[in-house]
Amino acid sequence: MLREALRIGSRRCYSYKSVRRPNLGASSAPKVEPAKEQPGSSPAVENGHGSLAKQLRAKILATGPIPVAEYMREVLTNPQAGYYMNRDVFGREGDFITSPEISQIFGELVGIWLVSEWRKMGSPSPFQVVELGPGRGTLARDVLKVITKFKAGAEFSMHMVEVSPFLSKSQAQRFCYTHNTVPEDSQLPHYQVGTTATGTKAFWHRRLEDVPQGFSLVLAHEFFDALPVHKLQQVDGKWQEVLIDVASEGEQLDFRYVLSRSQTPVSSVFRPMPGETRACLEYSLETERQVGILAERIERDGGIALIMDYGHFGEKTDTFRAFKQHQLHNPLLEPGSADLTADVDFKLVRHTAETRSNVHCCGPVEQGLFLQRMQGEARLEQLLAHALPENQDIIRSGYQMLTDQDQMGSRFKFLAMFPGVLASHLDKYPVVGFS
Ligand code: SAH
Repeated sequence: MLREALRIGSRRCYSYKSVRRPNLGASSAPKVEPAKEQPGSSPAVENGHGSLAKQLRAKILATGPIPVAEYMREVLTNPQAGYYMNRDVFGREGDFITSPEISQIFGELVGIWLVSEWRKMGSPSPFQVVELGPGRGTLARDVLKVITKFKAGAEFSMHMVEVSPFLSKSQAQRFCYTHNTVPEDSQLPHYQVGTTATGTKAFWHRRLEDVPQGFSLVLAHEFFDALPVHKLQQVDGKWQEVLIDVASEGEQLDFRYVLSRSQTPVSSVFRPMPGETRACLEYSLETERQVGILAERIERDGGIALIMDYGHFGEKTDTFRAFKQHQLHNPLLEPGSADLTADVDFKLVRHTAETRSNVHCCGPVEQGLFLQRMQGEARLEQLLAHALPENQDIIRSGYQMLTDQDQMGSRFKFLAMFPGVLASHLDKYPVVGFS
């Protein structure tokens, strides 16, 4: 059966977010000026781009320029006006399209991968399926179908980590039969519960820390690229932070970049990874924090984590960008009206996981390779054999979009995390998709 997403995926005018920023050179950095004592006023904001721009402006005028990370966090997840908080941002009517929405093959193969690695670990039961930032809940739904089919009597529950009240409802509608909001004063670690058509319990949490302890299969697709990044530049041998100030009078943008005049909390604690050669980079303290928690859980409670996102291995310098209606958009214009994102630094993810806990990481490998190694073509042929002739092009082009080198095949990467005690077992029985 076809889904609307496949139709969207086949149209090349809808973009996925890994589309590169134009004019990115090896050492490119945003245009920055030294911070001024008195920021100017911005008519653009005064004319009104919504409450978020006003709030940010008031804050900067009161306390001075803010880190890019703080700007990104406010723009994406401010409880009242944050980009993700109150609407569906995906697909044709939204701003971008993601792999699980493009083809069901994506979620099915991820589900099969999880089941096969879980079986290699002795099929522990009960277990938890955890997803960080599930969007519309499409990946969770496709993975749930596969796990329900192949769990062979094991017990499991679903745990969604989601900040957006609006999206948590969309997710529940996508894969639950019934769902309810939990009263605010309940003191429970979840804010919404649901039950799937086959009786599996689903829980929604605001933070990974709130997910109960236990053996977990954790998925994060296009989650880490939404976590705030700090922008740092080396000036005279010292790391300094790029901040966001209000724009000067007459400027078209609402805000502008400035270089901090003195050390900021992050620039003073930042320690580059061994072998760092970049003079400007993006550093996600929040990614480091969440990966640290994830790795600790995998080591302590057992489980597997699969991180899927667009990213690099510690070589890119300036990837912070915005998307609006499938087009690149200036991140400093009309905050809250467009998605903000930055490429995931997989070197930082791997380094953090392996240095903070005893975990064994595989990858990153390219999405195209992973899906091919997971027999994506065979699944494609199967789907084509059962599809109506008028739907076949759409199914084929969806899979091509996921795997082609010039589309999502090479820019999106997969990184897996296992308990460190399994390292030699995994050498003997290699992890499918990664070798
Ligand atoms: N995984 C989905 C959606 C990706 S968009 C897909 O690939 O289609 C990012 C998702 O992460 C959204 O659901 C957003 O609401 C959620 N999100 C963003 N920041 C978050 C945070 N700090 N904590 C929890 N969820 C977050």
